Amino acid sequence: MTQSEQQAHLDERIISVYTRIATAARRAGRDSADITLVAVSKTHSVETIASAIAAGLGHFGENRVQEAQSKISTLADDRPRLTWHLIGHLQRNKAKVAISLFDMVHSLDSLRLAETLNRHLHDRAADGQVSALPVLLQVNVSGEASKEGFDLPGGPDNPACLEDFAGEVAQILALPYLCVQGLMTIAPWSHDPEQARPVFRNLRRLRDKLARRFPTADWSQLSMGMTDDFEVAIEEGATLVRVGRAIFGTRASR
Ligand SMILES: *Cc1c(COP(=O)(O)O)cnc(C)c1O
Repeated sequence: MTQSEQQAHLDERIISVYTRIATAARRAGRDSADITLVAVSKTHSVETIASAIAAGLGHFGENRVQEAQSKISTLADDRPRLTWHLIGHLQRNKAKVAISLFDMVHSLDSLRLAETLNRHLHDRAADGQVSALPVLLQVNVSGEASKEGFDLPGGPDNPACLEDFAGEVAQILALPYLCVQGLMTIAPWSHDPEQARPVFRNLRRLRDKLARRFPTADWSQLSMGMTDDFEVAIEEGATLVRVGRAIFGTRASR
């Protein structure tokens, strides 16, 4: 394919994703302006991301700090117009670099990581940069064993689980350099998107419980839904959908 054919192909895929978002929003009686498409560009080249920017996308999701660092620096001219989302597990030894790169962290998955981020943000604030970092608490509400996310195996209806989690949430909310804005989850993979619905519904119900319990915090964002299940996620209240393959095609394994 020539470069202009490639661009046209990508433009078409993006239009199709936006159409699917709008259709799902309409079905749910929601305004599609309340749903942000985060294009998951992990494994894809800077040239591909540049084409997506040319097609009008502004939100990009990456799951590895090093890979994101090289892309973000290559695309430095576009930086002011872009929002970079960290969607993968963050190792604490990369927290300092991560705060210099990303506008939002979806994958805040432990109190220790929150404290580490807060400490680096505090140090940065001492240098005169004072904005708090928007973060989402990644939660595992599916009951499936997973190494990532705060674990709520019993979901939002298990009072003991909820108590433990709320205790950690209270400590995170007290960290001055983090700005909690909501929750994020990854549904277990399934060929049937309907399997993800109860998981997404649980995340929203958990959010509603936290909002009642911590009413002064911002719980507006729900990051849920990927290529195979973003329409169901929108029906269940997603405000950020993280879509890779539907935009960029299948990823080469790395
Ligand atoms: C890779 C990834 C996505 C995008 O997945 P697709 O199935 O390609 O849409 C979304 N969220 C997270 C956390 C990911 O790691």
